[in-house]
Amino acid sequence: MWPPGSHDALLEYARSYADSVPLPVDTDSLDWEVSTRAKQRAGACTYDGDAITIRLAWGAAKRFDRAQFERVIRHELIHAWEYQTAGEAGHGARFREQADRLDVSVTCPAFTTPRLRLECTNCAWTADRHRASAVVTDPETRRCGECGARYEVEHLASGERWRTAAGYRGARERIESW
Ligand SMILES: [Zn+2]
Ligand SMILES: [Zn+2]
Repeated sequence: MWPPGSHDALLEYARSYADSVPLPVDTDSLDWEVSTRAKQRAGACTYDGDAITIRLAWGAAKRFDRAQFERVIRHELIHAWEYQTAGEAGHGARFREQADRLDVSVTCPAFTTPRLRLECTNCAWTADRHRASAVVTDPETRRCGECGARYEVEHLASGERWRTAAGYRGARERIESW
């Protein structure tokens, strides 16, 4: 099932996918975590001298399609394999050789969180926006792209919401970091 409906479902998916990746990594000994705070890094693999932990960003799981997210898991698994076999990890020759073979990028996978989301007041339609264009600053003059009803704008980092130009101006004053 994709996207996963819960943190547990994501972890279950990641663990079973990891077992299918052709890399001699001991997946049983890995710790897996979901991060809801990660805003840019889709995945991270850390080693504290004892345990190896792969942390997956919930925001990336929601935004990436399955193939993209599986690439994140493969990327972090290569780091885990490096820690298991060499005690250290990076993006050097050892990493690149496996990255080539497993078709993953050499830089740690990143995702972006949109600044603004439009949400229909009537149906399930949503759209993400980064810039304060007219659909954001003057929502009364536009309508939902699906059903034609009014929509609400949410500034995701602050949770401020508005449906009118006046609402936007008030929110914009209250929002400390746009
Ligand atoms: Zn990396
Ligand atoms: Zn609608």
